[in-house]
Amino acid sequence: MNKRGHVLNAVLLAVGIGYVLEPSGDTPTFVTIAEISVPIVLGALFPDVDTAFGKHRKTLHNLLVLGIFLAYPVVFGNLQYVWVGVLTHYVLDLLGSRRGIALFYPLEKEYSLPFGVPVSSNWADAVTFAVTVVEVLAFAFVHYYVLPLDATQQALAAVGAVGV
Ligand SMILES: [Zn+2]
Repeated sequence: MNKRGHVLNAVLLAVGIGYVLEPSGDTPTFVTIAEISVPIVLGALFPDVDTAFGKHRKTLHNLLVLGIFLAYPVVFGNLQYVWVGVLTHYVLDLLGSRRGIALFYPLEKEYSLPFGVPVSSNWADAVTFAVTVVEVLAFAFVHYYVLPLDATQQALAAVGAVGV
């Protein structure tokens, strides 16, 4: 997928996840969207830095890199929600082209899905939109039934409250 697709995906995701985290549709929802949109867009842009540094679709398109972005909020208390953009970048790359990504890099093997829509296709935006809707539903499911997406903030706030 190209930058346009990744940014479109990230912006729509931020709006959707904003409503998942703060369903009121009022000021807290828009504050949340503002809070998470820039980190998610930055995360969605990050993996393709490997077009300039390293090997494209390998060096920054793998589970190790995703793990680092998941660890940052827990270990350092920053970069919250950047992982959302990184993860959905991978998903869009898997769905948005025939070529795969090296999920287990430094192992070079690239994994792909048996289907994909070329970036140049007229359907690219429609597919991006549909993928985003499914992703928001998946994040909502995780948030409500598995682990709150803002779990690290809540944990850090709790630790902070204890410290006061
Ligand atoms: Zn990519």
